[in-house]
Amino acid sequence: MFKDLFQKKRKYATIPSERLGTSQSPQSGDRPKREIPEGLMNKCSRCGSIQYSKELEKNLKVCSSCGHHMRLNALERIQMTLDEGSFLEYDADLVSVDPLDFPGYVNKLEQQKLKSGLREAVVTGEGTIGGFPAVVAVMSFDFFTGSMGSVVGEKITRAIETATEKRLPLIIFSTSGGARMQESILSLMQMAKTSAALARLDEQGGLYISVITDPTTGGVSASFAMLGDIIIAEPGAVFGFAGRIVIEQTIRQKLPDDFQTAEFNLQHGQLDMVVHRKELRATLAQVLDLHSVKGGVNHGG
Ligand SMILES: [Zn+2]
Repeated sequence: MFKDLFQKKRKYATIPSERLGTSQSPQSGDRPKREIPEGLMNKCSRCGSIQYSKELEKNLKVCSSCGHHMRLNALERIQMTLDEGSFLEYDADLVSVDPLDFPGYVNKLEQQKLKSGLREAVVTGEGTIGGFPAVVAVMSFDFFTGSMGSVVGEKITRAIETATEKRLPLIIFSTSGGARMQESILSLMQMAKTSAALARLDEQGGLYISVITDPTTGGVSASFAMLGDIIIAEPGAVFGFAGRIVIEQTIRQKLPDDFQTAEFNLQHGQLDMVVHRKELRATLAQVLDLHSVKGGVNHGG
């Protein structure tokens, strides 16, 4: 068995240089080809370099060769961001039903649960970052491509309302393919619902930090992800409403290579900061610190 592993390692060690010419788009996903022994090694989907999974974990799932920020599950993100033992989950029992009798939806939900270890595409709760309390919502692309249905919208709305009531800052980590088509208009109305809740938080002077992670598109990009008082993105994260191909076909023009990346959005005024994953936690703590006053109430109005 060990012989096999080493043979495979040798075989793949030559791949990076060959791969360099075939530039993959950031949209192509993070799933490594399965020929590599799962759990031991990972292949970067951008540069093709092979890394030990343990090393990659230590590096917060950022490729040590090219700096590509790989996608994180909501639980990994919470573990990486919040102070140890401080997270208290909200609404863990809120799960999707099939309001429109959409063919195959119930089965698909079950598959997504098994695949991701999550019950929905967002985990919400409260905790501390560098000792500063905040309400957080963390989306997960590995559950139904982070799509927003009724439950995602409801959990996010409740988190916003809790932040408003408790006068705590709010941080939402977004990643999404858009509204969940299996719930049709019920998904689309979550855009208005979450936006209205954010408007009420804003009226009270509450702080909302939106963190854009790869990819954040569709209805999520066009609602709460874009409404942060401060909008931070991870390097290379795709952030936009419609997909590149759809836009190119509609306007009949070729778009720049870096179109819809975090860096492109920063240049065009859609973001406030692009922050490396290694500095994200400290940056969030700093922003929370700047907005806090004695006694922990940050709402100055
Ligand atoms: Zn890489």
